[in-house]
Amino acid sequence: MREIYLDYNATTPIDPRVTEAMAPFLSDRFHNPSSLYQKSKITKKAIEDSREKLATLIGAAPKEIIFTGGGSESDNHAIKGIAFSLMKKGKHLITSSIEHHAVLHTCKFLEKIGFDVTYLPVDRYGIVNPDSVRKTIRDDTILVSIMYANNEIGTMEPIKEISEITREKGVIFHTDAVQAVGKIPINVNDLGVDLLSLSAHKFYGPKGVGALYIRKMLRIESLLHGGMQERGKRAGTENIAGIVGAGKAAEIAMEEMGEEKDKIKPLRDKLENELIKRIPEIIINGHPSNRLYNTLNIAIKYIEGEGMLTFLDFEGISVSSGSACASGSLDPSHVLLAVGVPIEHAHGSLRFSLGKYNNYKDIDKVIEVLPPIVEKLRSISPLWGKR
Ligand SMILES: *Cc1c(COP(=O)(O)O)cnc(C)c1O
Repeated sequence: MREIYLDYNATTPIDPRVTEAMAPFLSDRFHNPSSLYQKSKITKKAIEDSREKLATLIGAAPKEIIFTGGGSESDNHAIKGIAFSLMKKGKHLITSSIEHHAVLHTCKFLEKIGFDVTYLPVDRYGIVNPDSVRKTIRDDTILVSIMYANNEIGTMEPIKEISEITREKGVIFHTDAVQAVGKIPINVNDLGVDLLSLSAHKFYGPKGVGALYIRKMLRIESLLHGGMQERGKRAGTENIAGIVGAGKAAEIAMEEMGEEKDKIKPLRDKLENELIKRIPEIIINGHPSNRLYNTLNIAIKYIEGEGMLTFLDFEGISVSSGSACASGSLDPSHVLLAVGVPIEHAHGSLRFSLGKYNNYKDIDKVIEVLPPIVEKLRSISPLWGKR
């Protein structure tokens, strides 16, 4: 059975052109880029070429990019790095209640060691009100961290409006743009952010490699101390193959993201419209229009997401219930609760996230098999009978 993969927000398959670009660096081109012989110049140059490609993708200068071990590390570095470098100035941070755990759990850690964090609420579509950012900034606020696009519901935040406020107030602004980079055009200067996290495996690159954009002149503490790699900001011999893969993925995204959107959005829209037509009592989570074009999160009332996920899996369809990070535990998603989805409906949510290898056949299959699965599960659900 062919797998129908609809979980691109969890991770994407590697584009074969990326694998091909990486291959030499997993065999002959193994030399340490910090060494001084000729062969090392090849690996050193490969890293700098990649840095340039990632910089181009987000409108930054190459010097403003440091490579990391992925989105989680970039988020940790941005938040702890600013907290540690500015703790003498202040200890207050502002974030939102719908951030990825890489941001939320980092903030929780900082609270444990004496920082003070405000978690801003969101409206029912998942949007942070820029005015509430303005009102929450204090004299001792050192960082605002608001994600660009939410991984579970796809809602996109008013980053530019928020950056106008942080600039006016002189507070540093970080955005976790892991779900946006490679999907939509991004320019850090237009956005006005000081720090931005991205991750290669969310746009057809390899896992375990990402980058942090650090605006020129911004002082930020290192997370990993040791050698002088990445201009002293991230010690350790570089993951050259991963970095080359990230660069190639960035280059492809730069060229092809327009056509990808034109292909993927109609597929997502068809899936959304047909499921609304065919399944009674469902709720679309996230913003109706201001949402990533590949993401559809629905709450199907009176049944459990896990049950649906299992039956879809039998049909070869891979999707996510709530958040990929939350699966395994039965806790409802913090994002769905924050947008006001009642706990019992949050349990019945499914996230479909599409990508460039999907086609109409994939979508038609879901439209065909999901309604009977829902009907079957509802027929044995005590909640459906009592509604
Ligand atoms: C996937 C994801 C991350 C974590 O990135 P990794 O590379 O898996 O560590 C962080 N934030 C968001 C919004 C994500 O979707």
